[in-house]
Amino acid sequence: MRTIDDITRPLDYLPPAAQILSPIIRNWADNEVIPYRRQFDEDWEDHTLIHPPGKKLLGEYGIQKLLFPVDLGGMGFGESDYAFTSMFILGEEMARADSGLAVGLGVTLWPLMSIALKPHVNRRLLEEFAPLYCNTTEMISGALCMTEPQGGADIENVELLKGSTIQTTAVRDGDEWVINGHKLWPSNTGGMADLLVVVCTTNPGSRDPADVTLIFVPGDLPGVTQSGPYEKAGMACDKNGDVWLENVRVPLWYRAHGPGKDALFFLDIISIASGVTISFTSGMMMNVYERLLEFVNETKLHGRPLKENDAVAGVLADYTATLEVIRIVGYQAARMLDRSDLYGERWSPEMMAKMRSYRYFTMDRCLDVMGKVMNLMEAYGADRDRDIEKHWRDIKMNQLWLGGKQLCQIEAARWFFECETL
Ligand SMILES: Cc1cc2nc3c(=O)[nH]c(=O)nc-3n(C[C@H](O)[C@H](O)[C@H](O)COP(=O)(O)OP(=O)(O)OC[C@H]3O[C@@H](n4cnc5c(N)ncnc54)[C@H](O)[C@@H]3O)c2cc1C
Repeated sequence: MRTIDDITRPLDYLPPAAQILSPIIRNWADNEVIPYRRQFDEDWEDHTLIHPPGKKLLGEYGIQKLLFPVDLGGMGFGESDYAFTSMFILGEEMARADSGLAVGLGVTLWPLMSIALKPHVNRRLLEEFAPLYCNTTEMISGALCMTEPQGGADIENVELLKGSTIQTTAVRDGDEWVINGHKLWPSNTGGMADLLVVVCTTNPGSRDPADVTLIFVPGDLPGVTQSGPYEKAGMACDKNGDVWLENVRVPLWYRAHGPGKDALFFLDIISIASGVTISFTSGMMMNVYERLLEFVNETKLHGRPLKENDAVAGVLADYTATLEVIRIVGYQAARMLDRSDLYGERWSPEMMAKMRSYRYFTMDRCLDVMGKVMNLMEAYGADRDRDIEKHWRDIKMNQLWLGGKQLCQIEAARWFFECETL
């Protein structure tokens, strides 16, 4: 009997930790998430069922310590040559169970990437926040606050717009930043963010990247208000909401790096997220493969298993060919992020264009074959008991963040065709 482990991944560049990491997360997914996930949609507001598996993985297994240096109680992956291939494994195994959970849990690590990854480690800030993440078995939630009411894509379009549309301000007052603004949609908000990284400007309207700031803001500071979570089409495990910042004061050294560097490393974490989130697509597709195997073996057409029909075989082949390619592309993207000595700086326009290309291409292909699977399964595709419709909704939502498909296309075309106005 074929299984998801027959889907190829590039064995020659898997991280040494793969043998340990994969079974731990697979076991967690099979026992802590998959049996309960059908009820997660109704749990979007309270997270009564959703919180325990998150706490187990991040807090009890300690995945939230991943990026911190070992001497601060972490696992040292921030300086590993396998950081992103390891995160890819993590993302795939989590998303096989629930890609909304993968987003929520993964985003806890995401803002930390601005200060924890070589070559731009900010040791002082890591020391400041290591106790929050490393000295507890409770789940910690991190959030990266970029999107604002006037638009998210423009804020992420740093290369062209250079932060000129950011409305959230950081004003220096003595040895503190005073932050004012309104953010929308950050993952892990909706009341749950313990630590925010807020994308601000020191000079609204400026096109000088030196004015873009990434500032760490503890979620319980006076002046930070989070709305309740939005009710979305899917991805109930990822809470999103409004964040208002009113005269929030933090020390000056809570800025990630400084003028110019914050803009670069903001690009870095967008580039990383674009590549690593392909793991959510391949992980989700692997679970659909499992469900599809069951369906085409047990369902009979003209007295034969459904899979033994020519037209059906075409759909099945399209599905697994797409999964094979997406998985290879995803691991390759993660490897390129790991090996900047070979492929260039992660925050370069070239890497951004390539990561954005892989991301939108893989999402489009996935959505295409998911539609075919829904057609093949007919009513069973829409039946919540089969879990296909859940993945189908969730993967569409996955396509909508990080500036959406259009920004991916803009950034890809800009670099490959040297466009000047996009
Ligand atoms: C599940 C989920 C999780 C999210 N997580 C986060 C998070 O962690 N942090 C966060 O800050 N935000 C998050 N978001 C918000 C998301 O990043 C934004 O929705 C996204 O960046 C698009 O921004 P917008 O909705 O404001 O649309 P806009 O930026 O207003 O764009 C509207 C439309 O215009 C298109 N467009 C924009 N610019 C151009 C252009 N130059 N040319 C042509 N078309 C263009 C866009 O593609 C889109 O179709 C999340 C959203 C979702 C759904």
